[in-house]
Parts: sequence; C-alpha cells; structure tokens
Amino acid sequence: EKEELKVLKNEASITSDGHQVELAGNIGGYADVEGVLNNGGEGVGLFRTEFLYMGSKDWPTEEEQFQAYKQVLEGMQGKKVVVRTLDIGGDKHLDYYDFPEEMNPFLGYRAIRLCLDQTDIFRTQLRALCRASVYGKLCIMFPMIATVQEFRDAKAIFEDVKAELIAEGVAVSDDIQVGMMVEIPASAVLADQFAKYADFFSIGTNDLIQYSMAADRMSQKVSYLYQPFNPSILRLVKMTIEGAHAHGKWVGMCGAMAGEPKAVPILLGLGLDEFSMSATQILNARKQVKSITFEDAQKLAAECIAKDTADEVLETVASYMGK
Ligand code: PEP
Ligand code: MG
Repeated sequence: EKEELKVLKNEASITSDGHQVELAGNIGGYADVEGVLNNGGEGVGLFRTEFLYMGSKDWPTEEEQFQAYKQVLEGMQGKKVVVRTLDIGGDKHLDYYDFPEEMNPFLGYRAIRLCLDQTDIFRTQLRALCRASVYGKLCIMFPMIATVQEFRDAKAIFEDVKAELIAEGVAVSDDIQVGMMVEIPASAVLADQFAKYADFFSIGTNDLIQYSMAADRMSQKVSYLYQPFNPSILRLVKMTIEGAHAHGKWVGMCGAMAGEPKAVPILLGLGLDEFSMSATQILNARKQVKSITFEDAQKLAAECIAKDTADEVLETVASYMGK
C-alpha cells in the first residue's frame, strides 16, 4: 500500500480526463517542510504562523520572523507557500499578552480583528514577510475576514508596508499574491464581491463548519452538529468557488475536510483548485484524483449538493467510491 502510493510522489495531480489540481501540505513551521516534500506536496497551502508567536517569550521580532519565513520559502524550493498572518485569540493564547475577558472568545477579539486594531504587531509581521518574499514564491492570506472593508484595510496596510520597504531600498518580490481565508459564512456568501479584491481564497472548514452550524468545534455535546458533509457546507463551498472563478481567482481549502478521502471527490467536482492537508494524506489524495474523471466528480458533487442531510451525502459518496 505505502509503496504503491510512493510511486505517485512526483506525479501531477490530474484526473484521467485531464483536469489538474494542486495538492499541498499544512505546516506549523520549518520542521514540517521535509514531510511535505517527501510526501509529494506541490506547495504549502497553510503555514500557521501562530506557533512562532506561541513558542516565544515576547512578540517575535521582525528579524526572528524574517528568518523563519525565509527558511520555509527556501526549503520549499520555489514551490508556492501560503503564509497565514497571525491567527491568535479564540482558544490560542500568548504568555506575554492579556486578552480581554469575553463571553465568547471564538466570536471575539482574534486574528485579523486584533491585527487591524494593533497595527504595529501586524506591520512587523508583514515587513518580515515582504523581506522574505524574494526567497521563494510567497502568498499571504488573512484569517477570519468577515467583511470586504476588513480585507481592503488589511491589504492597504500590506501595500503601505511594501512601499515603505522599497523606499528603504529593501528588495521585495513584485508577485506576492494576497488572499484571504473563507471561514466565516458571511464571506462565503459574499465571495463574488471579495473576489474583486483578493488574489485567492482558502476555505477554512474547521471554523466555517462551527460558525455555520453554531456548534463549537471542541464541544463533545454538540459534535453531532459538526458536519462537513451537511449540504449547507457544500453549498457554501460551491458559492465560494463560483464567486472566485467568476473573477478568475483560484480557491484552495486548508481545513481538515480537504484531506478527508470521502470529501476529495466532491470538492474536486465542485471545482476546488488547491487542496491543503496533513503531509501524510497527500499521496492518497493524489491516488484518488488520478483514478476519477472530472466529469464523474462533477456529477457526484451535483448529486450531493441536492441531498437533504449529511448522512444522505455520505451514502452517495460511499456508493460512488464502492464502484
Ligand atoms: C480552519 O479554520 O479551517 C483553519 C484551517 O484554521 P484553524 O484550524 O487554524 O482555525
Ligand atoms: Mg480557522
């Protein structure tokens, strides 16, 4: 089984009728880069930078961050690296910063909300990223974007930081893509508008599911509601992809759903362009992509989207995969 998958390591992720997608890995830092490459990852679809902040005694400096981003970009040897800007708050805390007391931290002051409020922290990270951009193929994405205004504001700060560095005589790549995570239902619904401004989307299903179903992703009691295969989630994914494609933008997914074998054929059929997952899931996903036609995947997706319940969707995929 393992050996059978290993031969797919350097192959393209392409269906038997010629539809190509990209299979990438999620990483928390440089230590994970080798695993992505060894498992045939075509890029990094999510670099969770919060670990850099959580593993530090104080806010990491621009220089510390620059070194960390440079190392990952160089390690990926010119393959695309999507770096997510700081996603802290919710359940993720820092020893050196007092978060405000809130009733619902997951609905509160976190991620891009904090970054747009404390712009010095945000600017330091963006400076480090811009400086590192010349060492590989960098894409930057903002987490937890809820409104078009937030995206525009974050993008404006990025542009300002970039111009500031250039004025200082520092080299910055001129093809950094700037995109956003779609993990709040409001942004999935408005995807066609966001797509005028963002270079790409990456769907964060871990949060998208919890916010859509109003079910905490950590809660055991309501875990029955945490349903990646609920048709409502599939429809939000579809809206996101259609909204992006209408403006010629690409869409990835970096939530756990992207690597779930039962989800891969549906997501492929919905037109997802990039799947980012744990390194160890990549080769199996490639095997799946190579063994189906895009036409069949599209039919399967259309069938799933029309179902009433998650169980019905799962039965539909199971019978498809059994063939
Ligand atoms: C997500 O929400 O799907 C995601 C990838 O981000 P995280 O799991 O870090 O919240
Ligand atoms: Mg998230």
